[in-house]
Amino acid sequence: MKISIIGTGYVGLVTGTCLANFGLQVICVDKDNDKIQQLNNKKLSIYESHLEYLIEKNVKEKRLFFTTDIKKSVEESQVIFIAVDTPPNHDVSANLKQVEEVAQEIVFSINNYKVIVNKSTVLIGIAAKISRIIQEYRTKTDKNTPSPSVILGASSACPVKPCFTGVIPAKAGIHPSSPSPLRREGGVRVKYPFDIVSNPEFLREGSAVYEFTHPDKIVIGTTSPKALKIMQEIYRPLYLIDTPFVITNPETAELIKYACNAFLATKITFINEIANLCDKVGADVHQIAKAMGLDGRISPKFLHPGPGYGGSCFPKDTEALYHFAATCGYEFKLLKGVISANKRQRELMVDKIKHHLGDLKGKTIAILGLAFKQNTDDIRKSPSLDIIKLLLKEGAHIRCFDPLAMDNTKKNLPNLTYCQDEYETADESDALVIATEWNQFRNLDLLKIKKLLKSPILLDLRNLYDPAKAKALGFVYEGVGRK
Ligand code: NAD
Repeated sequence: MKISIIGTGYVGLVTGTCLANFGLQVICVDKDNDKIQQLNNKKLSIYESHLEYLIEKNVKEKRLFFTTDIKKSVEESQVIFIAVDTPPNHDVSANLKQVEEVAQEIVFSINNYKVIVNKSTVLIGIAAKISRIIQEYRTKTDKNTPSPSVILGASSACPVKPCFTGVIPAKAGIHPSSPSPLRREGGVRVKYPFDIVSNPEFLREGSAVYEFTHPDKIVIGTTSPKALKIMQEIYRPLYLIDTPFVITNPETAELIKYACNAFLATKITFINEIANLCDKVGADVHQIAKAMGLDGRISPKFLHPGPGYGGSCFPKDTEALYHFAATCGYEFKLLKGVISANKRQRELMVDKIKHHLGDLKGKTIAILGLAFKQNTDDIRKSPSLDIIKLLLKEGAHIRCFDPLAMDNTKKNLPNLTYCQDEYETADESDALVIATEWNQFRNLDLLKIKKLLKSPILLDLRNLYDPAKAKALGFVYEGVGRK
């Protein structure tokens, strides 16, 4: 089976590579020519553990290809995954422009039965919208041609609910050579059935390859038994390792993704709120998180206090869900609180720095970590960058270091002082701030750091160090929710 993945970013590249490694033929498509050229020159556009090796292996074994030619790849594939970005609009609702763009682009390349699988995080109803977009294009074509020949929902591929199944016309002349059992004798236009599937992705950057190949669950939203069978075939290697499958309708699949991300964002925010309370009363948030996590109903995951959630998903998905609920006439009060508490968390971190340094004008602050979390070069909505921007506003100078995210940050914030390592960053700084939980920051030579700093102030926003030990070394130490 041949598969196209439209959008070769974090999700698309990992999905495409892992599916190729399952033995399928995969074409990864992107509109970004540089990205595709780099990949064809064996240069990765993103960092993900184990990804480089898998790409090299599958390219060599002729299962994985990269191209900007969306038309040709769709024509050649039976299944088309959409994995393009869905950034927020100005009003924070989800921006579905790219998904819609892809739907429009693939319309006239559908030359036989196709399964169109949406992997991008999209709001409820996008599966139906993709169908509508294709239908609108059909209507436009109908106006320009004398004999309308297709009816949405007339496909035999999905007898259950025609709403998510369509038949589209191929423009005369575009696929003259495409053989199809549905081709009209002597007609200029051809009808091809397709089904739409919602298959949200739950991988985590930093361990995306592992997560894709060992997922907690696979969610498939479709009303077409034929498409479902094809999806099950694609994910067969995961069936073999007993991965649970949730088979549902597209709307439910779409909402599952938002519910998961909003819940995890809420869990992070909850422990941050407890940490802030700990700061007021001298309690230790780590002990609290440990005790909470021992409760089987709660689980210890996502109970790590810090500067608030970031990354390309949680901030935009919480905002989009809140906005979407509002458009449905429902005020999602809990989510409103989570979003505003997460924003405040950044400000509270800056308050901690100010508490120890006073007026920040002219002060030099050493920041360790720029990525939104460890093991990634992704800086989208990174708490570290938000904190840096607030510090810059207060007149501080920033020295910084990150093992992977410096190049990306330089494009956004060129005027920071970028250092070679942790020690050069600390040199002649007024305080050291740990903003990302990189493993290599966990075992710094603190005595060396102390000698390099102008004043021995350590603000550990990821709670990597034992406060008592740091203090015993002569540091003024502050973490999040424990002193
Ligand atoms: P990304 O920005 O890394 O990649 C998106 C890619 O799509 C880019 O390379 C872009 O050039 C390409 N693209 C956009 N429009 C295109 C078009 N018309 N034709 C071809 N290519 C096009 O985004 P991402 O982080 O991979 O996220 C993709 C989707 O998956 C988003 O909806 C996101 O919310 C969701 N998601 C992301 C993660 C994650 O950890 N990053 C996890 C789960 C779900």
